[in-house]
Amino acid sequence: MGISETDRRHLRRCVELAREALDAGDEPFGSVLVSAPGEVLFEDRNRVAGGDATRHPEFEIARWAAAHLTPEQRAAATVYTSGEHCPMCSAAHA
Ligand SMILES: [Zn+2]
Repeated sequence: MGISETDRRHLRRCVELAREALDAGDEPFGSVLVSAPGEVLFEDRNRVAGGDATRHPEFEIARWAAAHLTPEQRAAATVYTSGEHCPMCSAAHA
């Protein structure tokens, strides 16, 4: 499976969000959640500088998706992220 121009656009947005995090004094990570039809549903950047080590963008996506999407919508959605999921976020997505 190759990387499409749409994938690249979402990945570039993840890097932009990571840059925003770094500029705000946080660790440089950003993530985007995209629905099966291609709509950007939610995006966030790292926010651990405030002292809450669970404020990874991938974890925020898991929280948002649990509150706003059906299990079928979650299964069909795609998460783009600036780096590989850590074990905490991998477990949350599982
Ligand atoms: Zn994480």
